[in-house]
Amino acid sequence: MDILVQKYGGTSVGSVERIKNVARRIIRSKEKGYSVVVVVSAMSGETNRLIDLAQQVTAEPAKREMDMLVSTGEQVSIALLAIALQDMGHPAISMTAAQVGIRTDANFMNARIQHIDDKPMKAELKKGRIVIVAGFQGIDVGNNITTLGRGGSDTSAVALAAALKAKYCEIYTDVDGVYTADPNKVPDARMLREISYEEMLELASLGSKVLHSRSVEIAMNYNVVLHVRSSLNDNEGTLVVKETKEMEKIRISGVTSKTDEARVTIYDLDDKPGVAAAVFSELAASRINVDMIVQSSALEKTHTNRISFTVKKSDIKSVEGVVEKLRKAGTVNGKHLVDTKIGIVSIVGVGMKSHTGVASQLFAILAKNKINIEMISTSEIKISCVIAEDRVLDAVRAIHRDFGLGEGSVRSAAKPAAKKAAAQPAAKKKG
Ligand code: ASP
Ligand code: MG
Repeated sequence: MDILVQKYGGTSVGSVERIKNVARRIIRSKEKGYSVVVVVSAMSGETNRLIDLAQQVTAEPAKREMDMLVSTGEQVSIALLAIALQDMGHPAISMTAAQVGIRTDANFMNARIQHIDDKPMKAELKKGRIVIVAGFQGIDVGNNITTLGRGGSDTSAVALAAALKAKYCEIYTDVDGVYTADPNKVPDARMLREISYEEMLELASLGSKVLHSRSVEIAMNYNVVLHVRSSLNDNEGTLVVKETKEMEKIRISGVTSKTDEARVTIYDLDDKPGVAAAVFSELAASRINVDMIVQSSALEKTHTNRISFTVKKSDIKSVEGVVEKLRKAGTVNGKHLVDTKIGIVSIVGVGMKSHTGVASQLFAILAKNKINIEMISTSEIKISCVIAEDRVLDAVRAIHRDFGLGEGSVRSAAKPAAKKAAAQPAAKKKG
């Protein structure tokens, strides 16, 4: 029997009524002949509530205990969902990560999955049961509870789908699928019927909140077909799949932004081998994730460089510690500045590989709107610009409009898949 993994997010299980609704959906899939494994998040708002409780006790709670605390949210959901299914006459069993055997490293609050045992789940499926697994959580080598980082239930689901060799992994959420831009910010954003893993990965790490970026990475590595759809209606949703020829014809698939990063600039660094290595190995040792990096070319007079990089605003305190350390070691001698008022706008599309002029068009759109570009970074399929935080919304809207990504645009009207999405205006309603 084919295995189907379904993941339901916090909004989808946000009330008893919604949990019952999810149970009915699961039963429908079961009745189509699938063995069903379900991953759920905590009820919406619950994880935040738990974090807030700890924060009321102390500003810096131990990470191990935070994981003990926040993992309980998912346990409430799995139990309630199993109870709902049983009440509707369908055998179901809830399982924690420890009961399944989801092994992670010991990096509390941001653990990575290392191994999943497929046997306990398969044994339950064999008995005809629907298996309901707590998302977000894992267990380390010392049997401590870990969690996978905020939004990590997506990653739990995809990892389970990979381990079980599931036919599909359906991600049910409160939006209808993946859009050309956040529909809350850009009213005529269009839903994409299909998107490639690569593009989705870029979008997820560049600010789109639809999927946890680790989940896309795993899906890509293990070829798990992801189907993002709404738990509140029966719309088609978006398939995340391997790149196709069709996708390359389209220059840009989407525009996204984030405002949770800050820029750090270190001045007057010696222009000699090993300096960048010293700076970034210290940052890595403190587990600080660096996103964009720009180094100016050396000034001839002083033989010094300037390095700017962006990190999560929440990591700024740790960065200050690292810079202090580098000062003591003599690596940093000049001033350093932190700017928290930045935003990053990005465009993504596999079509960029084969189309020219995309970057110049992007820069021209920003120029026309008098938006200054402070840093630029590119990959084969994306271009990101650091701009002032208070211009991010303007930038996203202008880029979306001028690249013709919207529902009413000529380009989207020419695409058969887009027509379908445009024919369902209800597809954009949010739950
Ligand atoms: N409940 C966790 C969170 O709010 C995990 C998830 O929802 O995916 O981040
Ligand atoms: Mg989520």
